[in-house]
Amino acid sequence: MVNSMSTRGAPGIRGRLGELCYSSGLLHSLQRVRAWWQRDLRILAYHRVMPLPDPSTYEFDLELISTPPAEFREQMMRIKRYFRPMRLTDVVAALDAGEALPPDTVAVTFDDGYDDNYRIAAPILDELGVPATFFVSTGHLDSGRPYAYDWLVHMILLTASQRLVLPELGIDVPLPRERALRRRIAGNVLLRMKWLDAFGQTAMIERLEAEWNMPSASARPVDCRPMTWAQAREMEAAGLEFGSHGVHHRMLARLPVDDMEREVRESKATLDRELRNPAVLMSYPVGGDRAYNDAVIAATRNAGFQLACSYICGTNAEPSENRYALHRLPVESNMGPGWFAAMLALPQLMSYPTAPHQSTGPTVQTCSP
Ligand SMILES: [Zn+2]
Repeated sequence: MVNSMSTRGAPGIRGRLGELCYSSGLLHSLQRVRAWWQRDLRILAYHRVMPLPDPSTYEFDLELISTPPAEFREQMMRIKRYFRPMRLTDVVAALDAGEALPPDTVAVTFDDGYDDNYRIAAPILDELGVPATFFVSTGHLDSGRPYAYDWLVHMILLTASQRLVLPELGIDVPLPRERALRRRIAGNVLLRMKWLDAFGQTAMIERLEAEWNMPSASARPVDCRPMTWAQAREMEAAGLEFGSHGVHHRMLARLPVDDMEREVRESKATLDRELRNPAVLMSYPVGGDRAYNDAVIAATRNAGFQLACSYICGTNAEPSENRYALHRLPVESNMGPGWFAAMLALPQLMSYPTAPHQSTGPTVQTCSP
């Protein structure tokens, strides 16, 4: 088994400092001191929980793997022992009642709706009694189709074509044989395509599917599979929560207003139809500062959602003031237990150091693809 250091790189200064704080045994004391003056809501953001595969044979995006199962269990045990895990609907109830959240409140969330959330994460959460919210892109649960960004990575890794030509991104490069080099190219494409509007992104991916004869419509790869509605219902019956992550996982702020509002409304209607509890929680797909704006927030509120998460790194000192754009703390697969513990205890110092966007880009940092 090869760990993801090869894709994420070795932990930087935060990771090493986090491990140091953890091994010193002082972390919990520092957390308690911090709780005297800071009562912020921490929301952890996961995508996939699965064993780390060998990058040389794995055919999808490694960066969506947040943590392997054993580490996930340790992380949830830590939350249970040192923090107050809370359902996001209970956070909504506290905000509505004007009540302060208890110190060290942590909410656990997942984006997209991969089936490993059902197979691997849910049983661990159930066993430990830790609540969590799963934000799913409803169209993918309806169709079973692989997620578009992940499929794009898959195509770039496996295509027989020797060139990648994407005029809309100013990309025209040879495709080397080595998978590691192709992964780097795919990562660059994912980063740059976030500047296209949502339909432009879809058109680009569909053009490659046609050119390379790799249609996602008929593909059901086991390594890139959404959960089913039956699985979601089973999870809900066990006490886990669901929220919207759009219908097609499109960047809502980069859609025409009518289409954006339809994505928000239809994702809620589908969740309300398929599950028992009404959907009141939203996570904006992609979630960086280009993925939502005031119009998206208004549409989210008007559709009946009562709280929404972004993918902007940070905690929430006053969640009532940004309940439709809450910050989250991403969990990444190269965080050892020390770094994870330090990030939770001292998030401002230890959260994942994300690369800033290009100088022409926005100043707020997002956490991941
Ligand atoms: Zn997503």
